Amino acid sequence: AALIPRPAHRRIMCIANQKGGVGKTTTAVNIAVALALHGSRVMVIDLDPQGNASTGLSVEHHAGLNSIYDCLTDGLPLAEAAQTVEGIPNLLCVPATIDLAGAEIEMVSVVARESRLKRAIAAYQEPLDYVFIDCPPSLGLLTVNALVAAEEVLIPIQCEYYALEGLGQLLRNVELVKAHLNPSVWISTILLTMYDGRTKLADQVAQEVREHFGDVVLDAVIPRSVRVSEAPGYGQSVLTYDPGSRGSTSYFDAAKQLAERGAAAGGKA
Ligand code: ADP
Ligand code: MG
Repeated sequence: AALIPRPAHRRIMCIANQKGGVGKTTTAVNIAVALALHGSRVMVIDLDPQGNASTGLSVEHHAGLNSIYDCLTDGLPLAEAAQTVEGIPNLLCVPATIDLAGAEIEMVSVVARESRLKRAIAAYQEPLDYVFIDCPPSLGLLTVNALVAAEEVLIPIQCEYYALEGLGQLLRNVELVKAHLNPSVWISTILLTMYDGRTKLADQVAQEVREHFGDVVLDAVIPRSVRVSEAPGYGQSVLTYDPGSRGSTSYFDAAKQLAERGAAAGGKA
C-alpha cells in the first residue's frame, strides 16, 4: 500500500494568509513535493507576482513566458503554461511572472473576473490529485480567484507575535466568497509554521490556534529550521535538499495527514 493515499477526487487547495512571510510558499512547495514524491499527481499554481513558488521549484518564470497571467487574462490553457519540475515526476508548476503584478487592475474589466482561475482549472482535463494555489500576501482579486477556484483553504500560521492579527479579515473574506461566489469553499486545514520549541511564545500561539480552530489544525507542526529556508536558494524543496532534516520530516508528516484526512472524508475532505 502507498505510504500516502491518493484522493478519490481532485482536491483544489488555496494557500492563503494576507500576511507576508508566514510560510505560504514554503508550504505550497514542500507539501506539493511530498505528495508528488509519494505518487500523487500534483500541480502548483503560482499566483504571486513575486514568483517565489516558481523559484522554489526551479521553474523558469522570466517576463513574457507563458504563465498564470496569460491563463487569467487571455484564457491560455493551463497545460500551455505548466512546466514539469526537475527530479519530481508527478509535479507540474504553472509559474508566475512579473506580468502578474498588473493583472488585478487589468482584470477589473474582464468578464467573470472572479472566476477566471476556476475556469482555467476546470478546463484542465488531465488527471490530477491535488492543485495547490500559492496566493500573494493580499486579499485582492488574485486571492479572490483562488478562493473561488478552491474547495479547501489551507492557512499557514506563524508561531510568532501577532500571528492571529488580521486573520479575522481573511476569515470574513472566505465567508463572503462562500456566500456569494463559491458555496463549497471552506477552511479545511491550518498549519502551524516556524515553530521554535525553545520559546514559550510559540507554545502559547500554537495552543491558542488549536483552541480557536480545533480539528482543522494539523497535528504536524513545522519547526523553524535553517534547512527549510536554505532550500529555495538551490531551487529545491527541503525534502530533496535535506531529506533527513526535521523540516523535511515535518512537511512529510503534514502532507501525509492532509492526505489521510482527505481519504477519510472520501476524497471530499
Ligand atoms: P509567504 O509565502 O507566506 O510570504 P514564505 O514561505 O516565503 O512565506 O516564507 C517567508 C520566509 O521564511 C522565506 O524566506 C522562507 O524561506 C522562510 N521560512 C519559511 N518557513 C520556514 C521555516 N519553517 N523555518 C525557517 N524559515 C522558514
Ligand atoms: Mg509567498
